[in-house]
Order: sequence, then C-alpha cells, then structure tokens
Amino acid sequence: MFKLINDRSKKLFEEAKKVIPGGVNSPVRAFKSVGGTPVFIKNAKGAYLFDEDNNKYIDFISSWGPMIIGHAHPEIIKAVNEQSNNGTSYGIPTELETKMAQLVVSLAPNVDKIRFVNSGTEACMSAIRLARGYTQRDKIIKFAGCYHGHSDSFLIQAGSGASTFGIPNSPGVTKGTASDTLLANFNDISQVKRLFNEYKNQIAAVIVEPVAGNMGCVLPQKEFIEDLRKLCSLYNTVLVFDEVMTGFRLALGGAQEILGIDADLVTYGKVIGGGLPVGAFGGKEEIMNFLAPDGPVYQAGTLSGNPIAMSAGYAMLKHLSLNKDIYESLEKKTSYLKKGMEEVMQATNLPFQINCLGSMISLHFTEDPVIDFLSAQKGDNTLFKNYFHGMLSQGIYLPPSAYESYFLNDAISFEDLDFTLKSFKKVVSKI
Ligand SMILES: *Cc1c(COP(=O)(O)O)cnc(C)c1O
Repeated sequence: MFKLINDRSKKLFEEAKKVIPGGVNSPVRAFKSVGGTPVFIKNAKGAYLFDEDNNKYIDFISSWGPMIIGHAHPEIIKAVNEQSNNGTSYGIPTELETKMAQLVVSLAPNVDKIRFVNSGTEACMSAIRLARGYTQRDKIIKFAGCYHGHSDSFLIQAGSGASTFGIPNSPGVTKGTASDTLLANFNDISQVKRLFNEYKNQIAAVIVEPVAGNMGCVLPQKEFIEDLRKLCSLYNTVLVFDEVMTGFRLALGGAQEILGIDADLVTYGKVIGGGLPVGAFGGKEEIMNFLAPDGPVYQAGTLSGNPIAMSAGYAMLKHLSLNKDIYESLEKKTSYLKKGMEEVMQATNLPFQINCLGSMISLHFTEDPVIDFLSAQKGDNTLFKNYFHGMLSQGIYLPPSAYESYFLNDAISFEDLDFTLKSFKKVVSKI
C-alpha cells in the first residue's frame, strides 16, 4: 500500500538483534505490535526526526514526552555543553541540584521536598517504598492499563476480577510481590471502595496516572479522581500521582493543577530531564523526611542528580516557566489536529474515538468511548497497524502501539499539522 525505503534501518536492526535482546533497549521500540522494522534515527532537530535512510518524519512522540520544546533546542544544548566541560559526574553534592529542586518546588503543587533519580521507574518504585515505610502498610492499589515503570510491584494488570490478588504480568515477578498489588479499573471508584473495605488498614498507597497515557490518552472522570482523593484521606493512604508523563507537559503544575486535585506524593520523569535520564519524586515534607539519611526508608543512586542531567532539566524547566504560553500554543495545535482528524474520520465509515487533553491525544479504532483499559483494548489492531505504517511512509512518526498517547512538541508548526492531516486523509482512505 505505502512503501518506506528503510534498507539501512533493516540492516542496523539485524546487527542490533545479535547483541541486544530484540535489538532494542526498550521493547516498544521494536515495532512488535505493529510489525515491520523499526527505523533507526540519525539525528533530530525541532519537530523533525531523520533516519539512517535519510527519511524525514514529523515527530509525534517527542521521545515519549521529554522533547516538549522540540529536538536539539539551543538552550538545552548550551546547558549540556557548558556543564560537560566541567566534568560529567562527581558523586558529591552540587549547587545545581539545589537550584533544580528549588525550581521544581516553586512550580509543582504539593511538593515541599524532592529527590532526583535516573528514571520514571525508579521514581515510582521509590515513592511506593516511601509510602509503605511511612504508613507501615504493605498493599498498594494500581489501575489496569496504568504504567508506572517496570519495577516488580507494577508489572501487574487486570485479570478478570479486580478485587482478586494481582497476577504477575511478566515471569520473574514473584507471587508474593504480586499479592501486595491490588487492581482496579481506571474510572471505576466502586472497585476502589470495595478494596478499601476489604483491606481496611492495609493499603499504603494508591498510585494512579491522573491522566492516563499508557492505554492511549484516557481522561479521569471528575468524580473518580475526587473520590480517590477523599478515600485516601479517609483511610490515611498515600495518594501517589504518577506524573512522569503529565508533569510539566499538561501544565507547569501538571495534572494536579489541571484537575485541581492535591496528591501526597508525585513522581516525575520525561520532561523534567530535558531529554536526559532524570526521574524525581516529591511531596509533603512530613512524608519526604522519612527518606534516608534523615529517615529510615533507604533510597540511593550513584548518578542521581547527575550534573549534566540536572543542567538539561534545569534549562528545560526554566524555559517552560519563562514561556508559559507554550502550554496554550500546544493545546491550540493539538485541538487543531483533533478537529482535522475528526473531520476526516467522519467522512469514512471506520469506527473511531479520539481522546485528547492538552498536548496528549490518541486515536482508537473503536465505536465505544475509551475510558479504561478494557475499552482501550476494543480498538481494532489491524486497522491500527495499517494506519501506523501508512503514516510512517508519509513521514509522520506516531507511537508504534495503539496503547500510547501522541505527545506534541511546540516545534511542530501549523504547516506541519496541515501536512499531517493531508497524509492522514490519504492513509485512512486506504486502510
Ligand atoms: C514512562 C513512564 C514511566 C516510566 O518511566 P521510565 O523513565 O521509562 O522508567 C512511569 N510512569 C509513567 C506514567 C510513564 O509514562
């Protein structure tokens, strides 16, 4: 149907597979769910990616979020270059870490103190340990379809019964670990209530993507998120907002600000590192003081607060805080894209749902509203595959999975969006 010249990527993928499991360092990159060969990227600038076969793509994943102001932004590059001349790591405190922490504390609601780590996974894993240490309880509630990184406690999704013990999603996760993770469906508060009733004073934390981005973009219903807050307060359970994706993307104050809901602990990643490996978790002082060396809950990292990573993150957050209109601009662009896609889809007889908030948007090939993991799974994956490869061949890089949100970056122009919509029309007419 559509043809992409990717000979060099194919060759590189074969080479990679010999020495890296599946040829990739993170599974989604391998294109397993859409088939075909992943493209290998040579470089990127602004809104565009360039692959090893010299194909150009408008980038709608923005490194899964971080590149919110576009690739190779001069302010980030300058910060990284300047810092790297002073050495790449010390393992000893720097002023930069405090400046970065002060900046985050000033921008993020309900964050009195923050600790930096190296990934979103580490942030969520550590936040849960902290919540457990603080409450002296073992169990946590997570929602099916919400992703909190790949640490053991989180690799558990919905079986059929939400109130049963979690079943590990990956070999290597022990039944013991899984049994401390309780599951509920996103947007279903009755299941959460049932779990609280059943495990009264055993639930340390509820962890949630306040706006889910790992089953497509799925918005929380107002009552669901409000009641989560109320239930956690009632049972003295720590409410953890996983804002790895939404933090500094939906607004400077993240989903907490957009939804008007206060979390007890918040995790960050992606945008906060400006494209370098940074995660962070923060929250109320009373809870954060439980962390070592002040408190008993151990958590550490040789490269945590790494000076180059901090300089990139600081430059990113500083840029965003001085250019708050970026959020409005991103929202305008995303709404424009949504409206254009809707018009095209309405002219076809394909089933579709488009979910969108701020600069997050996802298209699902299903007739029913997508409000949780079950409804997201109803999407037609054959249509998605054809759509994905069609768009790729036209120079539009979308997430290679039906369960991922697109992340717009502000380097994308309205001309880029018009080009995208023209390609979209061409592609969906042939899938
Ligand atoms: C990406 C992501 C993570 C994991 O972050 P990594 O840096 O990939 O470890 C955790 N939670 C959410 C919501 C994410 O989107």
